[in-house]
Parts: sequence; C-alpha cells; structure tokens
Amino acid sequence: MGLIDLHFHSYYSDGIYSPAELAERALKTDRTVLSLTDHNGISGVAEMISEGKRRGLRIISGVEIYTQLQEHNLHLLGYNFDLQNKQLNEQLVKLQQERIPIIKQGIKTLQADNWLINEAEVFKTISVYIGLGHLGGLLKKHNWSRIKQDFAWQEGRILTVTEIIGRYFFQQGKAIFPETFIPIRQAIKLIHQAGGIAVLAHPGQHLSWKEWPIVAQLKKVGLDGLEAISGHHRWEDQEYWQKIARQLDLLITAGSDFHGELPAKWGFPLNSQWDYFKILSEKIKIR
Ligand SMILES: [Zn+2]
Ligand SMILES: [Zn+2]
Repeated sequence: MGLIDLHFHSYYSDGIYSPAELAERALKTDRTVLSLTDHNGISGVAEMISEGKRRGLRIISGVEIYTQLQEHNLHLLGYNFDLQNKQLNEQLVKLQQERIPIIKQGIKTLQADNWLINEAEVFKTISVYIGLGHLGGLLKKHNWSRIKQDFAWQEGRILTVTEIIGRYFFQQGKAIFPETFIPIRQAIKLIHQAGGIAVLAHPGQHLSWKEWPIVAQLKKVGLDGLEAISGHHRWEDQEYWQKIARQLDLLITAGSDFHGELPAKWGFPLNSQWDYFKILSEKIKIR
C-alpha cells in the first residue's frame, strides 16, 4: 500500500497549499493514508476528503487544537471524529473568533512602533485561524528595508519568516499575537464526544524526556495516543517517545507537520519536514 502521514497543514490555517495540492503531493510521495490537521479549525477537511477520494487516498478527519496544561503549551490532535459535531464546531469557531481581537491589538502594537502593516490586508485570507507565518510574511513584504537593516542583511542570505517572527512578535518574552487555547482535558473530552480519538502532538517539541509523567497523567484523563514519530523529533526522540507510548499503552501515530518547503539555507538537513518524515515513515508502511 503506501505511507501514512497524519499531521500536516493547509492554507486554511498556516500552511501554504490547498487540500488539492496536498493530495497531489501525497500521491507523488506514495502517501495514501492522510489526515489534514489545521490549527483550531476543520474548514479544509471536507475538501481534503473529496480531493483524496478522487485520487484513491484514504483521508481521516483531523484537527490540531492549541491546549494548555499548567504552564505547558501542548498541541492536541483529534482524529476520526464526526465533522458535523455541533460542540466541536462551536468550540473551534470560538477559538477562531477569540483570536481576531488579539490580532487587531497586535497590529496596533506594531503600528505604534511604526511598522507598516494593514489590518484589512491581514484579514484578507482564506485562513480561518490567522497564523504567525501569515503575519510575518506581510511584515516582511512591507518593511523590508527596516528589517534588512536590523538583521544586517547581505545579498544572498535567505531571511526566513521564522526569524522575523522570533525577532518582532515577542516583547519582553511575551507574544504579541498569543494563540487561543483551551485546557487540554477539555480538548480531549471535546474530541471524544465528537466520536474521535485524541493524540498528543510532537511531544518532543514541548516536553523534555524527564517530563514523560505528564503524558501518563494525560492518559489517565483519556488521551488515546502519542505522535511519537514526528517531523520535529530528532532520531533519538522518535525512539524514546515510542517507548513511552508502549509503556503507557498509547497508540503510536506519525505525522510530518508539513506546512510547506523550508528554504534551502535554513540549516535543516533536508528541504522539508515532509522529506524528513518520508525516511521515517518508510519503516512503518501499512499493509
Ligand atoms: Zn503543533
Ligand atoms: Zn501542526
């Protein structure tokens, strides 16, 4: 059969491709079981399902919800839920709407600091949950000479949007555009009542190895799986979190977290998390 990839983003959140383009790319890389997991939104899922069907791909409904547990920001993946579920849809719309005044306030903060950024242009997007990449891209587009100076930019150097976000979207360690989130227990329940399963995304990105008891704690409140195999993980993380998942009797899932290609000069060994993930996922070909 083919490879599986249960975590990537479309232009309905902060990815750059449409569901149709993602389905095409999946086909080219022999990925046949897929889940589109946009941030705090499921607007692209029905389209992903129909684009997948046309190409003979198996698409599982998916979402990535921003959640919190004490001081930890954790990302929770939901799979195989009812797309029409009322409570889930209402909660996601709430998270999207709560973000709007945050974005507006953040734009004002930037404008007060003489950045050229236009509110109407920011909101002119298909994305239902405005991501930092979108904001960073617009800041770069309209303020290139100022940014160039700040970074002592020289011809030939690729300045990534991530670098721009890191430098300008945090003041005294505080985010100008904080994400909207719900407590993780509530998110697990929300996924369950919609008939789905709840999986903790890329644990290696948020937790140190010593913090594995947090995963055990989540298992007790209904967590079903761990994304032990992730495009964010170093090789040793892939093994470590699989071991933890087996010990806690959690499902092991795999996802690239592909948003789009990374610039070649990023310093990353491969062009995209999608490429990185391909090497890993070949080992778990499903029959
Ligand atoms: Zn994530
Ligand atoms: Zn993601």
